[in-house]
Amino acid sequence: YFLGGKYGVFEKLFREKPVIVKALDGIDLEIYHNEVLGMVGESGSGKTTLGRVLATLENPTEGEIYFEGEKITQKNIDKIRKQVQMVFQNPSSSIDPRMRIFDIVAEPLRKVNETEKRERVKKVLEDVGLDYDYVSNKYPRELSGGQLQRIAIARAIITEPIFLVLDEPTSALDVSVQAQILNLLVKIQKEKELTYMFITHNINVARYISDRIGVLYAGKLTEIGNAEDIISSPKHPYTQSLINSIPSLTRRELNPPKGEVPSLINPPTGCRFHPRCPFAMDICSKKEPPLFDVNGRKVACWLLNQQ
Ligand code: SF4
Repeated sequence: YFLGGKYGVFEKLFREKPVIVKALDGIDLEIYHNEVLGMVGESGSGKTTLGRVLATLENPTEGEIYFEGEKITQKNIDKIRKQVQMVFQNPSSSIDPRMRIFDIVAEPLRKVNETEKRERVKKVLEDVGLDYDYVSNKYPRELSGGQLQRIAIARAIITEPIFLVLDEPTSALDVSVQAQILNLLVKIQKEKELTYMFITHNINVARYISDRIGVLYAGKLTEIGNAEDIISSPKHPYTQSLINSIPSLTRRELNPPKGEVPSLINPPTGCRFHPRCPFAMDICSKKEPPLFDVNGRKVACWLLNQQ
């Protein structure tokens, strides 16, 4: 595989007394070269934390991550960071409003001379469908949300990374431009043979863009496999409730089951989904299910225990 590992991530929040939030716990995941892995889940499922960890913006407190066969350590993290980029939901939060577009896009190119910088900015703006002469001297406030997300994508790909984490890159945009940005991301992934982890809560977007889909619930990976298979025959009760409750193809959002996503400070014992699961059995509250392999699909549910 291309990127993978086994790790738990802990975030510490200090309010009245220190509490430990396990934003992700024991995630065992592999991402393959040139694939688009869609990562879906409700808010609070840990998908953004997972994206930040894989984009090397946060360190897991336990476990290890391998990038192209090499374990990520403090020694090689700078080299790996050049090959990994993240695009966020809201472009204006990741773009400095006081900088001109040229400087925003060129910012990651530190040790490059001015002539080459201009050439590369020009090329990358072309890649994202923007005209260099039209945008390079403008400020972010002079561009639309869709144009700004194109700028954020241009800045992410200018260093020629091989892995992009895309965190809900279309959900803050007007519906009319969401499809354009999605198609642009598909085109760039194919042309540059990139690997994506595409985080979304929109099941139709996940289906459209992904080769495989992973489902997160309360910091745990519950199911992962081929995108079409997961959508047409979800096996984990949580995935079933997300997908089967979509009444029509025009409905776009995930429709989570009744009940709250559990607290990550004090998560339920055993299977974290057991308080909301219609199929919960005795074992479910006592013992955590491992990821069972079901014809190439991985599903963390005792119902799938073949032994
Ligand atoms: Fe439901 Fe048990 Fe499967 Fe968890 S392990 S999803 S509680 S049946």
